[in-house]
Amino acid sequence: MSHELVQIALAPPSDRSQAMAEWLGDYARRRIHSRLIDERRCIPPYVALDFGNRGLLGMQVPAEQGGLLGFDHQEYFWTLRQLGAIDFTLAAFVGLNNCLGVRPILRFGNPAMRERYLPALARGRILGSFAVTEACAGSNPAGIAAVAQRQAQGFVLSGEKWWSGSAQWSGVINVVACHHDDAGRHCGFVALCVDGDQPGLRHGEEALTLGLRGMVQNQVHFDSAEIGADRVLGSPYAGMSVAADTMTYGRLAIAAVSSGTIWRLLQLMVRYTGRRRVGNSLLYGNDHVQAVMLEHWRAASALDLLVRRIAVVLDGGASLPTEVYAAAKLVATELLWAAADSAMQLLGGRAYCENNPVAQIWRDARVTRIFEGPSEVIATYLGQQSLRRESPLLQHLQALDTGQASKLQAICDSCQSTDAKSSASNLISLGYATAWTLLAVYVQNVPELVGWVAVKRATVAERLLEHTTRTLPDADSLSELIAKQIGLIRLDRAGEQVDLDPYFYDRFP
Ligand SMILES: Cc1cc2nc3c(=O)[nH]c(=O)nc-3n(C[C@H](O)[C@H](O)[C@H](O)COP(=O)(O)OP(=O)(O)OC[C@H]3O[C@@H](n4cnc5c(N)ncnc54)[C@H](O)[C@@H]3O)c2cc1C
Repeated sequence: MSHELVQIALAPPSDRSQAMAEWLGDYARRRIHSRLIDERRCIPPYVALDFGNRGLLGMQVPAEQGGLLGFDHQEYFWTLRQLGAIDFTLAAFVGLNNCLGVRPILRFGNPAMRERYLPALARGRILGSFAVTEACAGSNPAGIAAVAQRQAQGFVLSGEKWWSGSAQWSGVINVVACHHDDAGRHCGFVALCVDGDQPGLRHGEEALTLGLRGMVQNQVHFDSAEIGADRVLGSPYAGMSVAADTMTYGRLAIAAVSSGTIWRLLQLMVRYTGRRRVGNSLLYGNDHVQAVMLEHWRAASALDLLVRRIAVVLDGGASLPTEVYAAAKLVATELLWAAADSAMQLLGGRAYCENNPVAQIWRDARVTRIFEGPSEVIATYLGQQSLRRESPLLQHLQALDTGQASKLQAICDSCQSTDAKSSASNLISLGYATAWTLLAVYVQNVPELVGWVAVKRATVAERLLEHTTRTLPDADSLSELIAKQIGLIRLDRAGEQVDLDPYFYDRFP
């Protein structure tokens, strides 16, 4: 295998990020028990406090605004990568606080908000969260039904948010709601920085999630909460821009965490296959096994380069089209999921046992293809952008690598020539082709990685040309057909006693 291995050992971007990675490694050995965090569905308070004391919960908050680290983009993503290698749940917890809690206030908050919350967030004295999702607004945030009704002093906020990470534990929640003027007319969206003690804010049920069990995800209710006008993040009519900026940057954080986690999965694969004998030989010597590990080695190397190069651009003060962040999240989470599933397969029964780490990583990793924009939604968006002749994405690709840009253009042209050019599945395949092209551009100086990505792009491009229109009967008819196969399966659960017995209420009914 060695002759095929691309060896790109990225150096830490700075001495202080190197020191932080070393501290995290040492701390993890002594203090982090991932399985207990998962089983107890709770991150121990000392971990949040220790991370806060190190500034990890607000890494990019500058010293003059109360931060301890003032990390640039490269340092920040490097630290998230290391956390992703140590414990995915903790990486998500830290990433959420930084991206979804701190960033909206840092970028869109007024001076009073920044003064009040940033030092406390950066030092972990309080946590922050972000509440956009609702029952009918998940992959389509524009479906938000929560209303912030304008009144003389500010807004009256009513509605219900779902799956808000860390919300129950937070001292501040960034909330996006429909902005209604005092006559009840819809005038865009407003993002509000809501204090954890806000009257009218009520926490609802916690979700029993498959992974990320150590963090809380809960419903948040707003019962006519009166929020001052000084609580608006950015323009009161452009709350969706605040949400977009927040989620866009969060997508890059997910890519950084993913690369760290893939390296960790690979480490576990090498440890196991290098020691496990099947018959007379080590698994490690099997060429299929080597091909699997080579795939994930390339994936982690490519993601490292992608994230680093994007971070260098951002640190230079330039901006990038939002499609770049979307593509980074799309490819990173697909590559992470592939690595998690390979590790599950390669480590056999031991991977399936919860005393070993792979099962937990596998469960944790699965959500990355769902949250911060499900893969299909991101791919559709990228596909649509590629079909726009003058899109910033194509211009960006052309500026960096005309060869790759023209390859994507050829795929777009063949897509345009099919009858189903704007079908959902075609746009999704085109979106994947776009994302792989972007990865190819960002690893362009490593020919082996470019070739590896080209194969992935060719595979999705082939799907574009398949063009088979599949139609199903309506959902009720299909349900009936399924029932003919397996009957009408129904599980009537007896339920669980969860509510407080009336004897213990302050008033007996
Ligand atoms: C662990 C966890 C943490 C979360 N944290 C937060 C948080 O902190 N704050 C917050 O606001 N939200 C949070 N969320 C919510 C998360 O962002 C949403 O779950 C996500 O946006 C998807 O919405 P949905 O679940 O309603 O899926 P739906 O909108 O019901 O979509 C279901 C599936 O349909 C498919 N689909 C959807 N649209 C299309 C399309 N156009 N084309 C093709 N296929 C499509 C996709 O496969 C998608 O996964 C969290 C969720 C989880 C599970």
